[in-house]
Amino acid sequence: MRVLKFGGSSVTSPESIKKVCAIIRNELKSSRLAVVFSAFGGITNQLIACGEKAAAGDSNYRDECQAVRDRHIQAILELIPKESQEDVQNQVKLMLSDLEEMCYGAYLVKELSGRSKDHIVGYGERMSSYIVSEYLKAEGVNVAFCKSWELIKTDNNFTKAAVDMESTVKNIKVACPESIDLLIVPGFVGSTKDGQLTTLGRGGSDYTASLFAYSLDAKAMEKWTDVEGMLTADPRVVDNATQIETLSYQEAMELCHFGAKVIYPPTIQPLLEKQIPIYVRSTFHPEHPGTIINGSFSKNEGNIKGLSSIDGIALLSLSGGGMVGVPGFSKRLFSALASAYVNVILITQASSEHTITVGIQASDADKAMEMLQEEFGYDLQRGIVDPIHIEKDKSIIAIVGDNMRSQSGLSGKAFYELGRNNVNIRAIAQGSSERNISVVIESKDVQKALNSLHQSFFETQVKRLNLFLVGVGNVGGTLIQQIHNQQVTLLNDHKIELRVVGLANSKKSAFDVGGIDISIWKERLQEGREMTLREFCSHMIELNLSNSVFVDNTASEAVAAEYADILKESISVIASNKIAASSEQKNYELLKSLALKHSTDYKYETNVGAGLPVIDTIHSLVKSGDRINEIHAVLSGSLNFIFNGFTAETTFRDVVKQAMAEGYTEPDPRIDLSGKDVMRKILILARVAGYDLEMEQIESKAFLAEEVFSLPSVEDFVSGL
Ligand code: ADP
Ligand code: ASP
Ligand code: MG
Repeated sequence: MRVLKFGGSSVTSPESIKKVCAIIRNELKSSRLAVVFSAFGGITNQLIACGEKAAAGDSNYRDECQAVRDRHIQAILELIPKESQEDVQNQVKLMLSDLEEMCYGAYLVKELSGRSKDHIVGYGERMSSYIVSEYLKAEGVNVAFCKSWELIKTDNNFTKAAVDMESTVKNIKVACPESIDLLIVPGFVGSTKDGQLTTLGRGGSDYTASLFAYSLDAKAMEKWTDVEGMLTADPRVVDNATQIETLSYQEAMELCHFGAKVIYPPTIQPLLEKQIPIYVRSTFHPEHPGTIINGSFSKNEGNIKGLSSIDGIALLSLSGGGMVGVPGFSKRLFSALASAYVNVILITQASSEHTITVGIQASDADKAMEMLQEEFGYDLQRGIVDPIHIEKDKSIIAIVGDNMRSQSGLSGKAFYELGRNNVNIRAIAQGSSERNISVVIESKDVQKALNSLHQSFFETQVKRLNLFLVGVGNVGGTLIQQIHNQQVTLLNDHKIELRVVGLANSKKSAFDVGGIDISIWKERLQEGREMTLREFCSHMIELNLSNSVFVDNTASEAVAAEYADILKESISVIASNKIAASSEQKNYELLKSLALKHSTDYKYETNVGAGLPVIDTIHSLVKSGDRINEIHAVLSGSLNFIFNGFTAETTFRDVVKQAMAEGYTEPDPRIDLSGKDVMRKILILARVAGYDLEMEQIESKAFLAEEVFSLPSVEDFVSGL
């Protein structure tokens, strides 16, 4: 015997009911079944609305009732063959009329008791199961319909009645003898000893299934729903939530008690007691194995299994100097809350005993406050305890997994992640089982918190760099091309996503937070706005993106002058521009120290040796304790090209022109030919090697007459050569 349960989402339309019946027929081949049904999707809410509108004197309740009626009649017309339609309709119409009369009664007396509510709402399950069982019958399946509300015995705590296990188990056993192969069971409903109809609380059909599995010693309880098993987080909040293969009962219990709506929490305990495995499976992808909940301890390698959250929490704090070392305060606090029927969800106490904080449902806050004012009236008056403090609009997020106890540093990782995302933590509790860390935060932060925790614990870490590129000439343009060529490899093999967010030359700038399409960057830049350096930098800072990187591929002094302000905003600076690294030693030191202080980078690898890792190599040597005594190098690509190409057949001027045309020189070739560029490189290498050095200390033997450098423009200079 196995117990299957199909929720409202599995029986929303005649099409989905057909799918469900196909699954039942298939499963029936391998074992006897008891199958529990919820009301058709959305009907429970609609029935509640019928009753509440009626009680509020709103005659629109009739439209609501009519919609419920239409939906069920329509299902009968689509599912049941003509010859038996009338009988089935008659049965259902009796129930519909009864619930409409109940609503009319509520409308007349303008009141809806829990008792009436349960009577009305329970019809959802009673009608859906009945229609499905008649459909199966018509399809030739041998079914027995069971009046589960008569079997499940409860107290009279209407709308969320507690089950009397002893009589319930006995009744179910009797109602399902071995001779029955397929029992159809309405979920959610029960009744008191004296026959008043009750319900088991929202989501209670899961619990019905659990009670049947328990009573019949089923081999399994299978919850068939609209997701492919239990997921690492609520898919409505975290898009990237993924399926969990196995969970222990305790893990499932923690997740569900802390808000994972997929299983109604009371469902798990009876199944745990009899070690009956729970399967969560998808009605719409029946081939998918779904999630198995069994065992008492999950041995999965992963350390955290899932995240969940509960909204609508209030934090209530009792504090005061008079509480320190005095026994009895917590007893009084919890007794007072209990006597007001306030459920305590989370407790924290500081070790100084100065404050006890409890998390409760916000809807209980006023009731709790009133009761505590009464209980601690005297202590409040005397100043033994401080005025009682309530904070609303809080949520609890729970991080759950059996293996957390054997993994140190998990909470550290979680808190780091929350802190990094600016999520303020109001209280923390960790169960002594160490299976659950619960954190109280502002409700407005829940989505951000769950998504960032999910990313850090469950998703492969792709690090996105947001690039702001200034300078698109020879070097800058090539870099863009290089980024374009390497983007996919970097993402796939190195989990690095390069996104060009800002782009500028001296005339234009373009921004796109979603990433500029760099295959057409020239057009994008052309369409951009007028470039001013100030504006570019302040826009970059305002965007406040994580991992921002400013890349300077200009030869501009003005751009180099911005580095300090950029580093102060924790934005990295990468420069092929040598000006800053070869400026005064003091300025160079300042940039290095700013980078260190703001946990960011100032890098200039390409300043010397172009694409070769010269600077980094020297850095590493120095770091590991080596001392650089001498460096022998040809440091100028431009001079190298020029002197190699300068033969008897050419003029010096033509070779320089060629070097310029082929991109071997600085934009201004005088920087190369004066020796200045080489001096800069020497200076940078010396500094990297650990020496303090200024430009004036470098000796340069000029090879061109000084007069040519005093000519006013580059053109004059070249023709003057
Ligand atoms: P049913 O009607 O079948 O009982 P429910 O709506 O009660 O289904 O529960 C299934 C829904 O629970 C899913 O559609 C999903 O939106 C939600 N849910 C919330 N948290 C989780 C989670 N951790 N894993 C899977 N589903 C979740
Ligand atoms: N129909 C009820 C509800 O929506 C019970 C259930 O579906 O589990 O709460
Ligand atoms: Mg449900």
